[in-house]
Amino acid sequence: MPARLCGNLNLSDGGIMKTKLRRLPLLLTVVSSALVVACAPAESPLTLYEFDCGVIRFESITMFGVGDDETDVRDMIVPCYVVEHPAGSLLWEGGLPLAIAEAGDWVESPPVLLRQDQTLADQLPSIGHAIDAFDYVAFSHMHFDHVGASSEVQGATLLIQQAEFDAAFADSVTVPFFDPAVYEGLRNAPRELLDGEHDVFGDGRVRIIPAPGHTPGHQVLFVDLAEEGPVVLAGDLYHFRESRSDTRVPEINVDSALTIMTMGRIEQMVIDEGAQLWIEHDMAAYLERQSRSNVHR
Ligand SMILES: [Zn+2]
Repeated sequence: MPARLCGNLNLSDGGIMKTKLRRLPLLLTVVSSALVVACAPAESPLTLYEFDCGVIRFESITMFGVGDDETDVRDMIVPCYVVEHPAGSLLWEGGLPLAIAEAGDWVESPPVLLRQDQTLADQLPSIGHAIDAFDYVAFSHMHFDHVGASSEVQGATLLIQQAEFDAAFADSVTVPFFDPAVYEGLRNAPRELLDGEHDVFGDGRVRIIPAPGHTPGHQVLFVDLAEEGPVVLAGDLYHFRESRSDTRVPEINVDSALTIMTMGRIEQMVIDEGAQLWIEHDMAAYLERQSRSNVHR
């Protein structure tokens, strides 16, 4: 009797079935290896890559419910993440709009300054990937600083909460900091409209978790790394460390009460899973990780 496939690979798994044909030879190799060697983690690697997709510089941060005298932090990193799974790839977050990178300098966008030195597309070859070769793309939410690569991820299936999609593509877009011109390319993209949690590759290791409040369909990403342990990429659930330690809700959030409920639910998940939570815009934490590696396993 062949060794049981471990939870990391499941032949009836929808994620594998949806995998694009070009990845099948690799998949079959991985699956057959799993049959022989069974559940060694090395047989089913999961890798998280982290990229610099821009910087936002603030003069005042009071819009986030944090006083200007409470922290010296005024620069936010705008990260993009790539998840490579044996069954496919996921882009999580799309960075600043491409026009910012084209400007090649700080761009004034009152009340902030924006800068992007390299587009995601320019950085992906360093990991042997191309911007138009993702199986899936998902954003924590549709604010302009999270969806910059929208027009370049052709062919990827968009994983988005129904509430976020409805707000983003309404006849009249009313959510602050949604810029339909930036994400218009996603309007007719292949998509899965979500109403709650979604297991991206069917083995529980990469899961989209609804986290509404900042926007109607804000979501976070759970990634169960073998070496570094589980990580929650928290989108804009928090912007500053004070936001998390003191439960501060930005003025710009669409629903404050819902945000606080979401924060409680995600914090409980972090405890239950023994996970790290990454505040995505936390520049110091980002630089600290980058000083070691932008590759996480
Ligand atoms: Zn946001």
